[in-house]
Amino acid sequence: MKAKIAIDGPAGAGKSTVARAVAKELGLAYLDTGAMYRAITLAALRAGVDFNDSRALADLTESVELDIQIGSDGENIIFLNGENVSEEIREPEINSNVSYVARCPEVREIMVSKQQEIGRRGGVVMDGRDIGTKVMPEAEFKFFLTASLEERARRRLAELKAKGINLTLPQMIEEIRTRDKIDSERECSPLQAARDAIYLDTTEMTIEQVVKYIVDIVVDSK
Ligand code: C5P
Repeated sequence: MKAKIAIDGPAGAGKSTVARAVAKELGLAYLDTGAMYRAITLAALRAGVDFNDSRALADLTESVELDIQIGSDGENIIFLNGENVSEEIREPEINSNVSYVARCPEVREIMVSKQQEIGRRGGVVMDGRDIGTKVMPEAEFKFFLTASLEERARRRLAELKAKGINLTLPQMIEEIRTRDKIDSERECSPLQAARDAIYLDTTEMTIEQVVKYIVDIVVDSK
């Protein structure tokens, strides 16, 4: 199947888990575009680059080697200059800084062009913030997943807890709220539902229900 499926939405809406499961079920590749911005953020933190210095961020983005491999369960394994950083890019320090890096137009231009190169081949499920609007506006299937702020914070909290990172619910709500605000208000491809996207509030839904909903739409269209 050469379908292109775009899944966008705010932080903690379950996009990555859903996108990966949909890809697995339909035999498609999966690309987690957020992981790419996270890896650049890690590189910028390590290099001490000022997030307001677009030129320095762009130079850094051009100079690093970013490689994405698909793991045995369809997950993305992210290599930064040959080092597997898949775990490190999920740390709270990255969560609280990634939106400042991702709002830089020069960084986005480089990332979007890499993502479009992958998108052109088709047979892919991509999740992010601007997939349906900017990266793959031609995608046949576009979904915008959301859930209440509190539910999204709970989901993220549970994910972090499983990794031994303990934050409180109010801390998580604040982090997500801030990130969504920066992602939605930036000038360059902000977080936005494409006009032709199917909007899905997943607050009361399980992951399995969301995956089935999407898979059914894609399969029924054939
Ligand atoms: O999806 P995830 O929460 O891992 O994304 C991390 C951050 O990367 C987002 O908060 C956003 O700032 C940025 N991002 C983006 N465009 C995308 C994917 C992610 O700006 N397509």
